[in-house]
Amino acid sequence: MIEKREFYINGAWVQPTAPNDHNVIDPSNEEACAVISLGSQADTDAAVAAAKAAFPAWAATSKEDRIAALQRVYDAYKERAEDMAQAISLEMGAPIEMARQQQVGAGLGHLKSFITVAKDFEFNEPLGDHAPNDRIIHDPIGVVGMITPWNWPMNQITLKVGAALVAGCTMVLKPSEESPLSAVIFAEIVDAAGLPKGVFNMVNGDGVGVGSQLTAHPDVDMISFTGSSRAGKIISKTAADTLKRVSLELGGKGANLIFADADEKAVKRGVLHCMNNSGQSCNAPTRMLVQREVYDQAVETAAKVANGIAVGSSHDEGRHIGPVVNEVQFDKIQDLIQKGIDEGARLVAGGTGRPDGLNRGFYVKPTVFADVNNDMTIAREEIFGPVLSIIPFGTEEEGLQIANDTPYGLTNYVQTQDPARANRCAMALRSGMVEMNGQSRGMGSPFGGVKQSGIGREGGKWGIEDFLEVKAVSGWT
Ligand code: NAD
Repeated sequence: MIEKREFYINGAWVQPTAPNDHNVIDPSNEEACAVISLGSQADTDAAVAAAKAAFPAWAATSKEDRIAALQRVYDAYKERAEDMAQAISLEMGAPIEMARQQQVGAGLGHLKSFITVAKDFEFNEPLGDHAPNDRIIHDPIGVVGMITPWNWPMNQITLKVGAALVAGCTMVLKPSEESPLSAVIFAEIVDAAGLPKGVFNMVNGDGVGVGSQLTAHPDVDMISFTGSSRAGKIISKTAADTLKRVSLELGGKGANLIFADADEKAVKRGVLHCMNNSGQSCNAPTRMLVQREVYDQAVETAAKVANGIAVGSSHDEGRHIGPVVNEVQFDKIQDLIQKGIDEGARLVAGGTGRPDGLNRGFYVKPTVFADVNNDMTIAREEIFGPVLSIIPFGTEEEGLQIANDTPYGLTNYVQTQDPARANRCAMALRSGMVEMNGQSRGMGSPFGGVKQSGIGREGGKWGIEDFLEVKAVSGWT
């Protein structure tokens, strides 16, 4: 049993001011694997005070110094890659091979990307020939409260910390209470990188505790949040009292438009993408929209692919999918699968209950529904489990209409071999990202959504800009 109750504040590991133990449950066997402490208002205040005190000196450092600091974080992260993979796998259930490659790999990629992007980033630039005496200064916002989820823990933490560090902000990270172990290792990595005291702080806690305290705190200038649209709305309201900046990366219900001329691997690719990380990705293509000419074949293929996906423990090597994160999520997914059946969708793979032989652990059967109507609950709600809804469509116009008929707007997908149609669809889809024909986003490409999928962008120069204020200076000589 791992015990890690301390928080990382002002460059040191400190004991919580009040005991408040929280067990971390291993979703592969439902047993407690670690104990951490949930922070109190006094812990939050201490971390914010450290970040506030460190801000002026950190904001005044040169870009080169901040890039060098991030490079040290990157090097230290690389050294701890295996520890990190083990922690993520244990706390949120990603199979160890997947945790090594995708979960840890994403963090490494983002840190590297910010080092590259920051080199070309102009923090002080001329406005242009039409205003030769004016300059634009990009100032760091100040103290940032970072609130992150458990599903891709290092992806989210490095997207925020990497960008905020090069921007010149100081920060307090509150990771998800479901995935605190990887965040502890991340704080150890930052410690090993030797950043000035107080630039990076980490307090474990839950949403109603440290999460709300950071959001309401008068000395926090910005909240950078990734998580559910539900919590995003609460955070927006709370942050309004102090008019702090808010960046929100929220949920999604991505459509994957499969036209009759799509390449032959499109359906298989779509199913595997939906089920990856046990369906726990905000940008998962969870609604597969298939043109009628190829609909029956696509349903058959999708069922076959889903039935072929192995489910197993996160501790086992191999390319299976793991359990979902916790009992609440497990129960919610079971209810939604039942709702799909009750509302008349046609179950073609999976269903309720655990896969055969997996009686302990939050394991969900890879599930595919056909003949889904876009008004059904399974087509509207973010399920966050390995559940795919297949919806038929006729014309391109109808497909686009169904794709856009959702409160979310994170990522949509298009599969067609007609380049003109692909581009038309990319223009018409209302989402922050569109991926076509299996082409995934490059590192440094902006990540974020429209509508109820959020506000702001992470990654690349847009991710750095999120942590900056624009200052217009006239009369510069
Ligand atoms: P969640 O909203 O329950 O929790 C996310 C974080 O917010 C946790 O750290 C939690 O402690 C904290 N929190 C919860 N309520 C809070 C409150 N009232 N005030 C302050 N903090 C609060 O989400 P989750 O279950 O951890 O993660 C899954 C969700 O995250 C899904 O909806 C998913 O789509 C979304 N997500 C979005 C992106 C993206 O980039 N758009 C990426 C990953 C996950």
